[in-house]
Amino acid sequence: MNSIDIMVIGGGISGAATALGLTQHTNGSTKVMLLDEHLPSQRLSRGNFGLTWFMCKGADNPTYAVWCRMATRQWPDFARELENQTGYAVELEWNGGAVHAFGDDEWASLAKSVESIGEACKKIDLDYPVKMLDRRQTQELVPDMTLGEEVSGAMYTSEQGHINPLKLLAAVRAAYIKNGGHFQGGTAASGITPLKNGRYKVETSAGDYECAKVVVAAGHGCARLLQPLGEIPTIYPQRGQIMVTDRRPRRLTVPFLSVRQTPDGTYLIGLSTENTAMDTGVTPQAMKNQASNAIRLFPELAKLNWVRAWGAIRAMTPDGAPIYSQVGGHENLYMIAQHSGVSLAPLMASNVAPWILDTPSAEGQELITHFSNGRFHV
Ligand SMILES: Cc1cc2nc3c(=O)[nH]c(=O)nc-3n(C[C@H](O)[C@H](O)[C@H](O)COP(=O)(O)OP(=O)(O)OC[C@H]3O[C@@H](n4cnc5c(N)ncnc54)[C@H](O)[C@@H]3O)c2cc1C
Repeated sequence: MNSIDIMVIGGGISGAATALGLTQHTNGSTKVMLLDEHLPSQRLSRGNFGLTWFMCKGADNPTYAVWCRMATRQWPDFARELENQTGYAVELEWNGGAVHAFGDDEWASLAKSVESIGEACKKIDLDYPVKMLDRRQTQELVPDMTLGEEVSGAMYTSEQGHINPLKLLAAVRAAYIKNGGHFQGGTAASGITPLKNGRYKVETSAGDYECAKVVVAAGHGCARLLQPLGEIPTIYPQRGQIMVTDRRPRRLTVPFLSVRQTPDGTYLIGLSTENTAMDTGVTPQAMKNQASNAIRLFPELAKLNWVRAWGAIRAMTPDGAPIYSQVGGHENLYMIAQHSGVSLAPLMASNVAPWILDTPSAEGQELITHFSNGRFHV
């Protein structure tokens, strides 16, 4: 049987960024293997919207608010290091981000949420640099676009951005391999068995491995591997659909929650949420709703051609916060499952990897205990 120090099952952004951190924090002295079976139904690390945001997150969960803010603070350095190390430009644009409001009621509701998250952050000494803009200020934010008549303003922060998800995943995996990590694509793990010597046997389509630690970061594939060991991941599938337009000269440099323009000129339009099990299809109704929402925000988008669309399935938890958990009764078996895995990617390398290695890390590592799967089983 092959012997590995740490096996990470699942090479999406969560598993890949954690594996990168594992190699960084051990300076290549630990043999790390990252496996991914490349399931077509699990492509959310490629099919997401690419926002690196903290705004709106953690309204009822201050620990999660802190966690998201910590992640976005790390993003500019994280992207710079990835680019220096791998040559991949992840296309991070740190131009802020906005959530629009239609009419006075929506504006008031966004303002209320800014106030309540701001208050929660103040109690724990955390800044929350988010403000409400009126219609004129929102128009000034996007001087090359014309706002629709119904837009009353927006919630805005200058301290977040957006990236290219495909390039991010490629860069993280490339940096991991450059650091001495091993990656095996097209390989499925089918079972994890605790051994008498305290290690684990991982059965895969490329043979069996004996491992000192195992990290299951397999998104919706976590349940298949962990249920036989008595752990039921508290995640459910939620589909999101994204539409892409043809390329146009760059006019929108600040991403909005439901519309952003990429540096190469396409507009991405999204924001649907549906409970559809693992169906990654797209529907005319969601396309219609998303397109009409985008056109109400920026009427000129009506002139564009819509060229493609896809669906991807979020791994949602009931409270929206991530799961980082030691699997019950198994000191060296870990589970990672999360929404907002792009925004949180820097923390996987800087904080979650040292937690798995049981070594001290940057500030905030103690917050991880708040994100156990057990919080849903009380
Ligand atoms: C429409 C949409 C928009 C989104 N927008 C954003 C956004 O703007 N910003 C943001 O931060 N987040 C966003 N997200 C969420 C983000 O995409 C996810 O949080 C993130 O991709 C989760 O990554 P992951 O690695 O945990 O899971 P996954 O990407 O699902 O990776 C898990 C991997 O495990 C592999 N796997 C499963 N089982 C096995 C097995 N048995 N053996 C080997 N491999 C296995 C799968 O093939 C898969 O590649 C969005 C999601 C959706 C659906």
